[in-house]
Amino acid sequence: MQTTSQSSLKPDSLKIVAPLGGILVPLDQVPDPVFAQKMVGDGISLDPISNELLAPVSGTVTQLHNAHHALTITTPEGIEVLVHIGLDTVMLRGDGFSPRVKMGDTVKVGQPVIGFDADRVGRNARSLLTEIVVANFERVAHMTPATGMVEAGRSVILELTLKDGAANGTGVADTAAPGAEAQSEGIPLPNHAGLHARPAAVLAGAAKTFSSQIHLIRGDDKVNAKSLVAIMGLSTKQGDVVTIKATGPDADKAIAALATLIADGCGEKPGEAPQPAAETAATTARAFPTDANEIAGVPASPGLAIGQIFQYRHDVVEVEQKGGASADERRKLDTALAEAGSQIEELKGHMRDPSKAKILDAHKELLEDPDLVNLALDGIAGGSSAAYSWREAFTRYAKQLEGLDNPLLRERATDIRDVGRRVLGLLAGIRQEKIEVPQDAILVAEDLAPSDIASIDRTRVLGFCTTSGGATSHVAIIARSFGIPAICGIDESALHLDNGAQVLLDGGRGMLRRNPNEAEVARAREQIAKLAERRREELATAMQPAQTRDGHRIEVVANIRNADDALAAVAAGGEGVGLLRSEFLFDERDQAPSEDEQARSYGAVAEVLGRGRPLIIRTLDVGGDKPLSYLPLPKEENPFLGLRGIRVSLDQPEMFRTQLRAILRAAPLSDLHIMFPMIATLEELRAAKRILAEEQAAGASETSAAASVKVGIMVEVPSAAVQADILAAECDFFSIGTNDLTQYTLAMDRGHPKLARQADGLHPAVLRMIKLTTDGARKHGKWVGVCGGIASDLIAIPVLIGLGVKELSVTVPTIPAIKAAIGRLSLSECQALADEVLALGTAEQVRARLAPFAE
Ligand code: PEP
Ligand code: MG
Repeated sequence: MQTTSQSSLKPDSLKIVAPLGGILVPLDQVPDPVFAQKMVGDGISLDPISNELLAPVSGTVTQLHNAHHALTITTPEGIEVLVHIGLDTVMLRGDGFSPRVKMGDTVKVGQPVIGFDADRVGRNARSLLTEIVVANFERVAHMTPATGMVEAGRSVILELTLKDGAANGTGVADTAAPGAEAQSEGIPLPNHAGLHARPAAVLAGAAKTFSSQIHLIRGDDKVNAKSLVAIMGLSTKQGDVVTIKATGPDADKAIAALATLIADGCGEKPGEAPQPAAETAATTARAFPTDANEIAGVPASPGLAIGQIFQYRHDVVEVEQKGGASADERRKLDTALAEAGSQIEELKGHMRDPSKAKILDAHKELLEDPDLVNLALDGIAGGSSAAYSWREAFTRYAKQLEGLDNPLLRERATDIRDVGRRVLGLLAGIRQEKIEVPQDAILVAEDLAPSDIASIDRTRVLGFCTTSGGATSHVAIIARSFGIPAICGIDESALHLDNGAQVLLDGGRGMLRRNPNEAEVARAREQIAKLAERRREELATAMQPAQTRDGHRIEVVANIRNADDALAAVAAGGEGVGLLRSEFLFDERDQAPSEDEQARSYGAVAEVLGRGRPLIIRTLDVGGDKPLSYLPLPKEENPFLGLRGIRVSLDQPEMFRTQLRAILRAAPLSDLHIMFPMIATLEELRAAKRILAEEQAAGASETSAAASVKVGIMVEVPSAAVQADILAAECDFFSIGTNDLTQYTLAMDRGHPKLARQADGLHPAVLRMIKLTTDGARKHGKWVGVCGGIASDLIAIPVLIGLGVKELSVTVPTIPAIKAAIGRLSLSECQALADEVLALGTAEQVRARLAPFAE
């Protein structure tokens, strides 16, 4: 290994030195497409063994992310060297990182720039793999990466030959080209973590395809939109309003394209439930305050509220330990349990939303839980009072659950405490008083149980903050279903805020702001009013079956991952589930889930939906670009064209059979549909069906419902669309995966920084594929749904309906808006529109024609 103390030797070459000690890993082996596909730039990755990041080159710090996990140093030659510590570390929002430099500092190679707590970051992030990439790689003629073990600050890890003239460059050209000037409206950033590496790369890549000079503007900050580093340097956050300005010959075109790209999340699927890694982080990552007036927690339900603090507390119930005769104590316990059951029934009677009533059903079951009741009876048998024994029993039981690894089970401890307190109150002769909540209250509590929420006057509550729980807690689920903002796991200092103090609650950021100034309040009020008006209109009709204004029925169902999502979907007006992404259960673990674990998970979703709503479970959709650590699959040159989707299941039949058995166990509980992903050929469909039929036959004695399960395929490969009439004869339904269908139809990688913008699901070629699919299905009387991203996009709804799509499977938060949009359309208008856009030549023309439907 070559070592050096200089970062550059000749003016046309540059040596980049290891910023950390560790083992070098080729960039394309990094398990994150942003880096592996070189969206951010080319370079190398390093598995670190040290925890002080040193400057890999001498230069100026031109970007230091506010989460302190990444920085860029620009060398005097204008080469931008970006170092990104770990994967998905943006979600840690600075936790565990200590910057030693600030923006604008001049640094020498080998100088410490960021310290980090490797243990803490390693525990909370996906990986510690650190990437060192040249962001403006277009200036590099040749790169020689090193391999093996390297020493921080000494070993050369990349040797670059710069292109002619690059040595004098200063970054991406930002000179004004002659021509028109155009500027977009303000666009609120939908991205969960702002324009971090991935979306910034997509935006810069797209901006570079225009010859105009392009700027991204936020408030007084204005940066070159063709520079990844400059965009990242803005340190934007979700909800920041940005505008895009272009000057030059193609200014109008640039604004139209880039504004849409930003509004759509720059390839990050804004409305979509977060990606696995981001979701994990979102459920645990606590926001970090940037000033003393902010109190941080975990974002649990998005939205803004301005209200007054109301500290919500449970009375402490005092009980005597010593009991009377055990028969008497037992009678008291039985009576209290029965009375609690009636109270819950009564409470349920006031609930119109079946998903919340279900939570109370679970409470009733707990009253009959033999383990819990026996624990209390043991206490009584030992001479303790019924109240004391019961309190001991339910707190012990709740603590047991709280100690488990499974966050969902941990959250259920809240139910036990809730129902436990109800019975305890009855045993102690204390009536559960209804707590009077003031108007415009932001409720702050250690915990809010479902029955607390059920018994408060909702019209007075604008938001919740709890010091316990996370994004999967009931408070979070219920807040999301109420559509009010919530923060869970908030810092305990929130418990000491005075009742009546005005605060600004930002659920999306997980931040509570005390002492907001007038301008902040006014801004928030304006935003709240706009959103509320729109949501009011949409929610008014969300629970009704979706239909066009001329009575054509369209099913609006949800894309989900688990039972909690199913609850949220039903609460938002979802008429069922059109895509249960089962791969979430298989991800981020060291072995495949067992049949029982899978069956429990699918069963939980089935129970939420009941037999009256369709449940479509997609079998495992991994492989290729989405590897599973425990799955022995070969490394492939073209992962999107390799072992992926159903091909993995056919290659690993035992895993497939286990999953099918688990899915079939949900059949008696639900209107079950099984869907195979990425079917490209009739042979694949037949092979998958044969295995399913064998499992159905093997389990026939257990359940006859399993035999009536519907079987469908995802149409996401052109061959399936073209042969839809053949495939339709052998399955019950199609669901079009437009995300993949688009990339395969246009031969454009859906995550490619330069191509993603053109890989548009509204491209006429993709629309023609959809038409082939609906035409083929119609010949056999089969129905077609769409579960890809465009189903959640208002602009696409009329054309999909016009093409004959009967079901739209959408992201949960968009359900009310999609249903409302359907109600504004007529079938004949949609059909005429579909005919019209099918005849167009480009996606841009389609978008222009459909633009009036975007809002
Ligand atoms: C699709 O391809 O459109 C789809 C819904 O599947 P995924 O996005 O999970 O690949
Ligand atoms: Mg797909």
